[in-house]
Amino acid sequence: MTTTSIAPTRTSPAPRVALFGIEINALTMRQAVERIYEWVRTPGVGCRYVVTPNIDHVVVLQQHAGLRAAYASASLVLPDGFPVVWASRLVGRPLPELVPGSDLVPAIFDAAAAHAGLRVFLLGAAPGVADEAAERIGQRWPGVQVVGTYSPPLGFEHDAAENMRIIGRINATEADLLILGLGAPKQELWIAQHAHELEVSGALCVGATIDFLAGEKSRAPAWMRRCRLEWLHRLASEPRRLAGRYARDAWVFPQLVWRQWRQQEDPNC
Ligand code: UDP
Repeated sequence: MTTTSIAPTRTSPAPRVALFGIEINALTMRQAVERIYEWVRTPGVGCRYVVTPNIDHVVVLQQHAGLRAAYASASLVLPDGFPVVWASRLVGRPLPELVPGSDLVPAIFDAAAAHAGLRVFLLGAAPGVADEAAERIGQRWPGVQVVGTYSPPLGFEHDAAENMRIIGRINATEADLLILGLGAPKQELWIAQHAHELEVSGALCVGATIDFLAGEKSRAPAWMRRCRLEWLHRLASEPRRLAGRYARDAWVFPQLVWRQWRQQEDPNC
């Protein structure tokens, strides 16, 4: 069963697939990029935002009402983990392809020249990293202007005055898009809470993408990505932070797939 929901855009809503209690947009990378440029071309509608579910988000949001709500308010929900795409095929509601945040941002930047340029603000990553990313973006994508960067201090999300300062700073730059690299679920909860105060056309919750753009963290080599082993590369890079998370996800996610499959076979179970 494929369901549709209305996103605040002047074009038709992007088709959605209901899976694991969330609705994921069935779009290719190219279509997602076009949707985001439609937002940029129609400013003043409010800040629409993108979330990119991977296995970990799917597992966490089963028990996290705030993250579920943030997902429900997102204008685009794009699959950022092959197991999510694979599960969609298994249950007969296929998503066309993987649209990871860390590939989506460069794809948006690639299209900037053809869209008369793009103004972006980078929020997140350790101090100095977004500035390094800004420099590299300027060299690689002349059509993209990084109009502001900020690395918020730890715990900023609980500080109302700091949040007001951040929002004022972003709005003052007249950026088209906000790239949020605060990690999950912080970035999703933050944008769900503050989107209505932001004057950007769109925001993208894309985790470590600012680190990748800065060269601070390395993406997995192409062959690992082709073999769907990017998770292994990330685990090897940050074993202390990720081992427990991946072990929990490896235990819980198959159960969610099984439950989803059973529901499809017998909607009463
Ligand atoms: N980060 C941040 N502020 C925070 C927490 C995290 O800027 O309060 C940044 C961190 O520096 C890194 C990114 O968020 O650049 C983490 O992204 P990743 O996708 O690895 O996080 P995950 O969602 O996997 O936890």
